[in-house]
Amino acid sequence: MTLMTSWVQSANNADTDFPLNNLPYGVFSTDTLEARCGVAIGDMILDMAALEEEGSITLGDEPVFDVPYWNDLMEMGPDTWDALRTRLFQLLSADSTEQARIAPHLLPADDVELHMPLVVSEYTDFYAGRQHAQNMGAILRGSPDLPANWLHIPIGYNGRASSVVVSGTDILRPNGQTKAPDADMPSFGPSKRLDIELELGAIVGTSSDFGVPITVDEADAMIFGYVLLNDWSARDIQGWEYQPLGPFQGKAFGTSISPWIVTTAALAPFRTPTPPRDKELLPYLNSSVDGLFDINLEVQMHPEGAPHASSISKTNYRRMYYSAAEQLCHHAVGGCGMNAGDLLGSGTISGPNKSEYGSLLELSWAGREPFTLDTGETRSFLEDGDTIILKGHSQGDGFRVGFGSCVGKIAPAVKFP
Ligand code: MN
Repeated sequence: MTLMTSWVQSANNADTDFPLNNLPYGVFSTDTLEARCGVAIGDMILDMAALEEEGSITLGDEPVFDVPYWNDLMEMGPDTWDALRTRLFQLLSADSTEQARIAPHLLPADDVELHMPLVVSEYTDFYAGRQHAQNMGAILRGSPDLPANWLHIPIGYNGRASSVVVSGTDILRPNGQTKAPDADMPSFGPSKRLDIELELGAIVGTSSDFGVPITVDEADAMIFGYVLLNDWSARDIQGWEYQPLGPFQGKAFGTSISPWIVTTAALAPFRTPTPPRDKELLPYLNSSVDGLFDINLEVQMHPEGAPHASSISKTNYRRMYYSAAEQLCHHAVGGCGMNAGDLLGSGTISGPNKSEYGSLLELSWAGREPFTLDTGETRSFLEDGDTIILKGHSQGDGFRVGFGSCVGKIAPAVKFP
Protein backbone atom coordinates (compact mmCIF):
# COMPACT_ATOMS: atom_id res chain seq x y z
CA MET A 1 0.00 0.00 0.00
CA THR A 2 1.28 3.48 -0.85
CA LEU A 3 0.76 6.98 0.50
CA MET A 4 -2.68 8.50 0.00
CA THR A 5 -1.99 12.13 -0.80
CA SER A 6 -3.78 15.00 0.89
CA TRP A 7 -4.10 18.72 0.19
CA VAL A 8 -2.76 19.13 3.75
CA GLN A 9 0.89 19.20 2.65
CA SER A 10 2.44 18.09 5.96
CA ALA A 11 0.40 14.86 5.72
CA ASN A 12 2.41 13.82 2.65
CA ASN A 13 5.80 13.70 4.40
CA ALA A 14 7.26 10.20 4.59
CA ASP A 15 8.01 10.58 8.30
CA THR A 16 4.73 12.00 9.56
CA ASP A 17 2.78 9.69 11.86
CA PHE A 18 -0.47 11.08 10.52
CA PRO A 19 -0.83 10.80 6.73
CA LEU A 20 -4.25 10.49 5.11
CA ASN A 21 -3.84 6.71 5.43
CA ASN A 22 -4.04 7.05 9.23
CA LEU A 23 -6.68 9.57 10.41
CA PRO A 24 -6.44 8.85 14.17
CA TYR A 25 -9.09 10.09 16.58
CA GLY A 26 -8.39 12.29 19.59
CA VAL A 27 -9.86 14.99 21.82
CA PHE A 28 -8.47 18.52 21.96
CA SER A 29 -9.17 21.97 23.35
CA THR A 30 -7.80 25.48 22.79
CA ASP A 31 -8.08 28.75 24.70
CA THR A 32 -11.36 29.39 22.90
CA LEU A 33 -12.67 25.91 22.03
CA GLU A 34 -13.95 23.50 24.66
CA ALA A 35 -12.70 19.91 24.54
CA ARG A 36 -14.11 18.14 21.50
CA CYS A 37 -13.32 15.41 18.97
CA GLY A 38 -10.52 15.98 16.47
CA VAL A 39 -8.69 14.07 13.76
CA ALA A 40 -4.93 14.37 13.22
CA ILE A 41 -3.78 15.00 9.65
CA GLY A 42 -0.08 15.83 9.20
CA ASP A 43 0.77 18.54 11.72
CA MET A 44 -2.82 19.81 11.81
CA ILE A 45 -5.95 18.84 13.70
CA LEU A 46 -9.40 18.79 12.15
CA ASP A 47 -12.15 20.19 14.36
CA MET A 48 -14.83 17.52 13.99
CA ALA A 49 -17.40 19.38 16.05
CA ALA A 50 -17.18 22.35 13.70
CA LEU A 51 -17.53 20.14 10.60
CA GLU A 52 -20.57 18.49 12.12
CA GLU A 53 -22.12 21.81 13.06
CA GLU A 54 -21.80 23.23 9.56
CA GLY A 55 -23.12 20.01 8.01
CA SER A 56 -19.95 18.72 6.31
CA ILE A 57 -20.29 15.49 8.27
CA THR A 58 -23.61 14.02 9.37
CA LEU A 59 -23.69 10.55 10.92
CA GLY A 60 -27.03 10.49 12.69
CA ASP A 61 -29.78 12.60 14.20
CA GLU A 62 -27.69 13.85 17.10
CA PRO A 63 -24.21 15.39 17.07
CA VAL A 64 -21.47 13.07 18.32
CA PHE A 65 -18.31 15.17 18.03
CA ASP A 66 -19.04 18.14 20.34
CA VAL A 67 -18.13 16.04 23.37
CA PRO A 68 -14.72 15.14 24.87
CA TYR A 69 -14.80 11.45 23.94
CA TRP A 70 -15.29 9.15 20.94
CA ASN A 71 -17.54 6.66 22.75
CA ASP A 72 -20.71 7.90 21.01
CA LEU A 73 -19.20 7.25 17.60
CA MET A 74 -17.92 3.85 18.73
CA GLU A 75 -21.39 2.77 19.82
CA MET A 76 -22.79 3.53 16.36
CA GLY A 77 -20.94 0.47 15.08
CA PRO A 78 -18.58 -0.60 12.29
CA ASP A 79 -20.77 0.54 9.37
CA THR A 80 -20.72 4.10 10.72
CA TRP A 81 -16.98 3.85 11.45
CA ASP A 82 -16.45 2.97 7.78
CA ALA A 83 -18.78 5.73 6.58
CA LEU A 84 -16.88 8.32 8.62
CA ARG A 85 -13.53 7.15 7.29
CA THR A 86 -14.80 7.29 3.72
CA ARG A 87 -16.15 10.81 4.26
CA LEU A 88 -12.84 11.99 5.77
CA PHE A 89 -11.00 10.62 2.73
CA GLN A 90 -13.33 12.68 0.50
CA LEU A 91 -12.76 15.84 2.51
CA LEU A 92 -8.99 15.58 2.88
CA SER A 93 -7.69 13.83 -0.25
CA ALA A 94 -5.58 15.79 -2.73
CA ASP A 95 -8.43 15.86 -5.25
CA SER A 96 -11.06 17.01 -2.75
CA THR A 97 -13.52 19.60 -4.06
CA GLU A 98 -14.29 20.77 -0.52
CA GLN A 99 -10.90 22.11 0.53
CA ALA A 100 -12.00 25.74 0.81
CA ARG A 101 -14.80 24.85 3.20
CA ILE A 102 -12.71 22.48 5.33
CA ALA A 103 -9.45 24.45 5.62
CA PRO A 104 -10.75 26.97 8.19
CA HIS A 105 -11.43 24.08 10.56
CA LEU A 106 -7.82 22.87 10.65
CA LEU A 107 -5.76 23.98 13.65
CA PRO A 108 -1.99 23.64 14.10
CA ALA A 109 -1.33 20.69 16.41
CA ASP A 110 1.14 22.84 18.34
CA ASP A 111 -1.69 25.16 19.41
CA VAL A 112 -3.99 22.63 21.05
CA GLU A 113 -4.10 20.71 24.30
CA LEU A 114 -4.82 16.99 23.97
CA HIS A 115 -7.05 15.06 26.38
CA MET A 116 -8.17 11.48 26.96
CA PRO A 117 -9.67 10.38 23.62
CA LEU A 118 -12.35 8.23 25.24
CA VAL A 119 -14.11 7.48 28.49
CA VAL A 120 -12.48 4.23 29.57
CA SER A 121 -15.30 1.95 30.70
CA GLU A 122 -13.12 -0.70 32.28
CA TYR A 123 -9.50 -1.70 31.99
CA THR A 124 -8.17 -5.25 31.72
CA ASP A 125 -4.49 -6.05 31.42
CA PHE A 126 -3.16 -9.21 29.81
CA TYR A 127 0.11 -11.13 29.77
CA ALA A 128 0.45 -12.21 26.15
CA GLY A 129 4.15 -11.60 25.52
CA ARG A 130 5.97 -14.90 25.53
CA GLN A 131 9.48 -13.51 25.98
CA HIS A 132 8.23 -11.29 28.80
CA ALA A 133 6.55 -14.23 30.56
CA GLN A 134 9.73 -16.30 30.20
CA ASN A 135 11.90 -13.44 31.47
CA MET A 136 9.61 -12.89 34.45
CA GLY A 137 9.85 -16.58 35.27
CA ALA A 138 13.63 -16.55 35.03
CA ILE A 139 13.93 -13.40 37.15
CA LEU A 140 11.32 -14.13 39.80
CA ARG A 141 11.28 -17.93 40.01
CA GLY A 142 14.67 -18.90 38.61
CA SER A 143 13.19 -20.70 35.59
CA PRO A 144 12.07 -19.41 32.18
CA ASP A 145 9.43 -22.12 32.01
CA LEU A 146 6.02 -20.70 31.22
CA PRO A 147 3.24 -21.14 33.78
CA ALA A 148 1.29 -24.37 33.05
CA ASN A 149 -1.74 -22.43 31.78
CA TRP A 150 0.11 -19.89 29.63
CA LEU A 151 0.00 -21.71 26.28
CA HIS A 152 -3.73 -22.33 26.71
CA ILE A 153 -5.20 -19.18 28.28
CA PRO A 154 -4.72 -15.49 27.41
CA ILE A 155 -3.95 -14.66 31.06
CA GLY A 156 -5.22 -11.34 32.40
CA TYR A 157 -6.45 -9.46 35.45
CA ASN A 158 -9.10 -6.81 35.94
CA GLY A 159 -7.40 -3.44 36.37
CA ARG A 160 -8.66 0.04 37.15
CA ALA A 161 -10.20 2.44 34.61
CA SER A 162 -10.03 5.30 37.15
CA SER A 163 -6.25 5.63 36.93
CA VAL A 164 -5.90 5.46 33.13
CA VAL A 165 -4.50 8.86 32.11
CA VAL A 166 -3.55 10.56 28.86
CA SER A 167 0.03 11.07 27.73
CA GLY A 168 1.60 14.07 29.42
CA THR A 169 0.08 13.39 32.83
CA ASP A 170 2.68 13.09 35.61
CA ILE A 171 2.78 9.75 37.42
CA LEU A 172 3.19 9.95 41.20
CA ARG A 173 5.55 7.42 42.67
CA PRO A 174 3.13 5.25 44.66
CA ASN A 175 3.30 4.56 48.37
CA GLY A 176 2.56 1.03 49.39
CA GLN A 177 3.37 -2.00 51.40
CA THR A 178 6.52 -3.95 50.60
CA LYS A 179 8.62 -6.57 52.31
CA ALA A 180 12.30 -7.23 51.81
CA PRO A 181 13.10 -10.96 51.53
CA ASP A 182 15.12 -10.94 54.77
CA ALA A 183 12.73 -8.72 56.76
CA ASP A 184 10.39 -10.06 59.43
CA MET A 185 7.75 -7.43 58.84
CA PRO A 186 6.53 -5.49 55.79
CA SER A 187 7.10 -1.73 55.67
CA PHE A 188 5.21 1.19 54.13
CA GLY A 189 6.59 3.93 51.92
CA PRO A 190 7.39 5.03 48.36
CA SER A 191 8.07 2.25 45.86
CA LYS A 192 11.79 1.72 45.27
CA ARG A 193 11.31 -0.46 42.17
CA LEU A 194 9.16 1.66 39.91
CA ASP A 195 8.93 0.26 36.39
CA ILE A 196 7.27 0.60 33.01
CA GLU A 197 5.54 -1.90 30.75
CA LEU A 198 5.51 -1.29 27.00
CA GLU A 199 2.09 -2.40 25.78
CA LEU A 200 -0.48 -1.79 23.11
CA GLY A 201 -4.02 -0.99 24.28
CA ALA A 202 -7.00 -2.29 22.30
CA ILE A 203 -10.20 -0.25 22.54
CA VAL A 204 -13.48 -2.13 22.39
CA GLY A 205 -15.86 -0.15 20.17
CA THR A 206 -19.12 -2.07 20.37
CA SER A 207 -20.65 -3.85 23.33
CA SER A 208 -21.49 -7.51 23.83
CA ASP A 209 -24.38 -8.70 25.97
CA PHE A 210 -24.16 -10.11 29.47
CA GLY A 211 -24.29 -13.89 29.27
CA VAL A 212 -23.49 -14.06 25.55
CA PRO A 213 -20.06 -15.33 24.41
CA ILE A 214 -18.40 -13.97 21.27
CA THR A 215 -16.12 -15.65 18.75
CA VAL A 216 -12.61 -14.40 18.03
CA ASP A 217 -13.79 -13.15 14.62
CA GLU A 218 -16.68 -11.26 16.23
CA ALA A 219 -14.29 -9.87 18.82
CA ASP A 220 -11.92 -8.67 16.10
CA ALA A 221 -14.76 -6.74 14.44
CA MET A 222 -15.64 -5.12 17.81
CA ILE A 223 -12.20 -3.52 18.24
CA PHE A 224 -12.34 0.15 17.29
CA GLY A 225 -8.65 0.89 17.46
CA TYR A 226 -5.39 0.84 19.36
CA VAL A 227 -3.27 3.15 21.51
CA LEU A 228 0.20 2.95 23.02
CA LEU A 229 -0.06 1.98 26.66
CA ASN A 230 2.40 2.22 29.54
CA ASP A 231 1.34 -0.05 32.40
CA TRP A 232 3.41 1.59 35.16
CA SER A 233 4.30 -1.07 37.72
CA ALA A 234 5.70 -0.92 41.27
CA ARG A 235 7.61 -4.20 41.34
CA ASP A 236 8.29 -4.20 45.09
CA ILE A 237 4.62 -3.63 45.94
CA GLN A 238 3.57 -6.18 43.30
CA GLY A 239 6.07 -8.77 44.56
CA TRP A 240 4.64 -8.71 48.09
CA GLU A 241 0.94 -8.54 47.23
CA TYR A 242 0.48 -10.67 44.14
CA GLN A 243 0.05 -14.14 45.62
CA PRO A 244 -2.48 -15.65 45.29
CA LEU A 245 -4.81 -13.22 43.46
CA GLY A 246 -2.45 -11.33 41.15
CA PRO A 247 -1.60 -7.63 40.71
CA PHE A 248 -3.46 -5.03 42.77
CA GLN A 249 -1.92 -1.80 44.16
CA GLY A 250 1.35 -2.36 42.33
CA LYS A 251 -0.52 -1.68 39.07
CA ALA A 252 -3.40 0.54 40.16
CA PHE A 253 -1.68 3.92 40.54
CA GLY A 254 -1.40 4.87 36.88
CA THR A 255 -1.69 3.65 33.30
CA SER A 256 -0.78 6.06 30.49
CA ILE A 257 -2.21 5.94 26.97
CA SER A 258 -1.28 7.89 23.85
CA PRO A 259 -3.79 10.60 22.87
CA TRP A 260 -4.62 9.31 19.37
CA ILE A 261 -6.73 6.22 18.71
CA VAL A 262 -5.30 4.58 15.60
CA THR A 263 -8.22 2.74 14.08
CA THR A 264 -8.25 -0.94 13.22
CA ALA A 265 -9.12 0.17 9.68
CA ALA A 266 -5.93 2.25 9.40
CA LEU A 267 -3.85 -0.68 10.66
CA ALA A 268 -5.50 -3.23 8.34
CA PRO A 269 -2.65 -3.24 5.76
CA PHE A 270 -0.26 -4.24 8.55
CA ARG A 271 -2.07 -7.30 9.89
CA THR A 272 0.09 -10.31 10.74
CA PRO A 273 -0.82 -13.78 11.98
CA THR A 274 -0.25 -14.97 15.51
CA PRO A 275 2.85 -17.19 15.77
CA PRO A 276 2.77 -20.99 15.42
CA ARG A 277 1.15 -22.63 18.44
CA ASP A 278 3.20 -24.91 20.67
CA LYS A 279 -0.05 -26.44 21.85
CA GLU A 280 -3.24 -26.28 19.86
CA LEU A 281 -5.67 -23.79 21.33
CA LEU A 282 -9.07 -25.00 22.45
CA PRO A 283 -11.57 -24.58 19.58
CA TYR A 284 -13.37 -21.54 21.04
CA LEU A 285 -10.14 -19.56 20.50
CA ASN A 286 -9.91 -20.43 16.80
CA SER A 287 -10.02 -17.60 14.30
CA SER A 288 -9.90 -16.89 10.59
CA VAL A 289 -8.36 -13.42 10.94
CA ASP A 290 -4.75 -12.32 11.33
CA GLY A 291 -5.14 -10.63 14.70
CA LEU A 292 -1.71 -9.06 15.24
CA PHE A 293 -0.17 -6.04 13.52
CA ASP A 294 3.34 -5.17 12.36
CA ILE A 295 3.94 -2.14 14.60
CA ASN A 296 7.47 -0.96 15.39
CA LEU A 297 7.70 0.12 19.01
CA GLU A 298 10.32 2.07 20.92
CA VAL A 299 10.91 3.07 24.54
CA GLN A 300 12.91 6.19 25.34
CA MET A 301 14.03 7.45 28.75
CA HIS A 302 14.77 11.11 29.46
CA PRO A 303 16.16 11.86 32.93
CA GLU A 304 15.45 15.35 34.26
CA GLY A 305 18.14 17.75 33.06
CA ALA A 306 19.60 15.35 30.49
CA PRO A 307 20.24 16.97 27.09
CA HIS A 308 18.16 14.40 25.24
CA ALA A 309 16.24 11.17 25.60
CA SER A 310 17.97 7.78 25.19
CA SER A 311 16.44 4.89 23.30
CA ILE A 312 16.36 1.90 25.67
CA SER A 313 14.27 -0.65 23.76
CA LYS A 314 12.97 -1.37 20.27
CA THR A 315 10.60 -4.20 19.47
CA ASN A 316 7.44 -5.03 17.51
CA TYR A 317 3.83 -5.84 18.41
CA ARG A 318 3.90 -8.81 16.04
CA ARG A 319 5.97 -10.58 18.73
CA MET A 320 2.85 -11.26 20.81
CA TYR A 321 1.48 -14.78 21.24
CA TYR A 322 -2.18 -13.84 21.66
CA SER A 323 -4.06 -11.18 19.68
CA ALA A 324 -6.39 -8.63 21.27
CA ALA A 325 -9.29 -10.40 19.55
CA GLU A 326 -8.35 -13.70 21.22
CA GLN A 327 -8.09 -11.90 24.55
CA LEU A 328 -11.47 -10.26 24.04
CA CYS A 329 -13.09 -13.58 23.09
CA HIS A 330 -11.65 -15.24 26.19
CA HIS A 331 -12.75 -12.29 28.34
CA ALA A 332 -16.39 -12.69 27.29
CA VAL A 333 -16.59 -16.48 26.96
CA GLY A 334 -17.96 -17.07 30.44
CA GLY A 335 -20.67 -14.48 30.03
CA CYS A 336 -18.90 -11.23 30.94
CA GLY A 337 -20.47 -8.43 28.91
CA MET A 338 -18.02 -6.07 27.23
CA ASN A 339 -18.68 -2.36 26.74
CA ALA A 340 -17.79 0.35 24.26
CA GLY A 341 -14.76 2.03 25.79
CA ASP A 342 -13.31 -1.07 27.43
CA LEU A 343 -9.52 -0.98 27.29
CA LEU A 344 -7.46 -4.18 26.95
CA GLY A 345 -3.72 -4.00 27.64
CA SER A 346 -1.78 -6.46 25.48
CA GLY A 347 0.73 -7.41 28.14
CA THR A 348 4.35 -6.35 28.08
CA ILE A 349 5.85 -6.57 24.60
CA SER A 350 9.37 -7.99 24.71
CA GLY A 351 11.32 -9.46 21.81
CA PRO A 352 13.90 -12.24 22.02
CA ASN A 353 16.95 -9.98 22.36
CA LYS A 354 17.82 -7.82 25.33
CA SER A 355 17.53 -4.69 23.16
CA GLU A 356 13.86 -5.62 22.70
CA TYR A 357 12.79 -5.94 26.34
CA GLY A 358 9.70 -3.92 27.27
CA SER A 359 10.26 -3.34 30.99
CA LEU A 360 13.10 -2.06 33.15
CA LEU A 361 12.86 -5.20 35.29
CA GLU A 362 13.95 -7.16 32.23
CA LEU A 363 16.40 -4.56 30.88
CA SER A 364 18.23 -4.43 34.24
CA TRP A 365 17.52 -8.08 35.06
CA ALA A 366 15.84 -7.08 38.34
CA GLY A 367 18.55 -4.54 39.13
CA ARG A 368 21.39 -7.03 38.88
CA GLU A 369 22.62 -5.58 35.56
CA PRO A 370 21.91 -1.82 35.44
CA PHE A 371 21.75 -0.45 31.90
CA THR A 372 23.49 2.70 30.64
CA LEU A 373 21.87 5.69 28.92
CA ASP A 374 23.50 7.78 26.15
CA THR A 375 24.44 10.34 28.78
CA GLY A 376 26.42 7.77 30.79
CA GLU A 377 23.85 7.59 33.57
CA THR A 378 22.80 4.12 34.65
CA ARG A 379 19.36 2.89 35.66
CA SER A 380 17.73 -0.18 37.08
CA PHE A 381 14.36 1.36 37.93
CA LEU A 382 12.77 4.81 37.53
CA GLU A 383 13.99 7.79 39.50
CA ASP A 384 11.94 10.89 40.28
CA GLY A 385 12.07 13.26 37.31
CA ASP A 386 12.57 10.50 34.74
CA THR A 387 10.35 10.77 31.67
CA ILE A 388 9.39 7.71 29.65
CA ILE A 389 8.37 8.13 26.02
CA LEU A 390 6.72 5.31 24.05
CA LYS A 391 6.57 5.55 20.28
CA GLY A 392 5.04 3.31 17.64
CA HIS A 393 4.37 3.14 13.93
CA SER A 394 3.63 0.73 11.11
CA GLN A 395 5.92 1.24 8.13
CA GLY A 396 4.30 1.42 4.70
CA ASP A 397 5.91 1.99 1.31
CA GLY A 398 7.00 5.63 1.66
CA PHE A 399 4.64 6.43 4.53
CA ARG A 400 3.91 5.37 8.07
CA VAL A 401 0.83 4.91 10.20
CA GLY A 402 1.98 6.18 13.58
CA PHE A 403 0.68 6.54 17.10
CA GLY A 404 2.47 9.74 18.11
CA SER A 405 3.92 9.30 21.58
CA CYS A 406 2.87 8.24 25.06
CA VAL A 407 4.75 10.31 27.63
CA GLY A 408 4.83 10.15 31.42
CA LYS A 409 7.12 11.78 34.01
CA ILE A 410 7.71 10.43 37.50
CA ALA A 411 6.82 12.85 40.28
CA PRO A 412 7.89 12.28 43.90
CA ALA A 413 5.61 10.27 46.17
CA VAL A 414 3.12 12.18 48.30
CA LYS A 415 3.85 12.27 52.06
CA PHE A 416 1.49 9.83 53.77
CA PRO A 417 0.29 9.49 56.45
MN1 MN B 1 0.94 -5.05 32.13
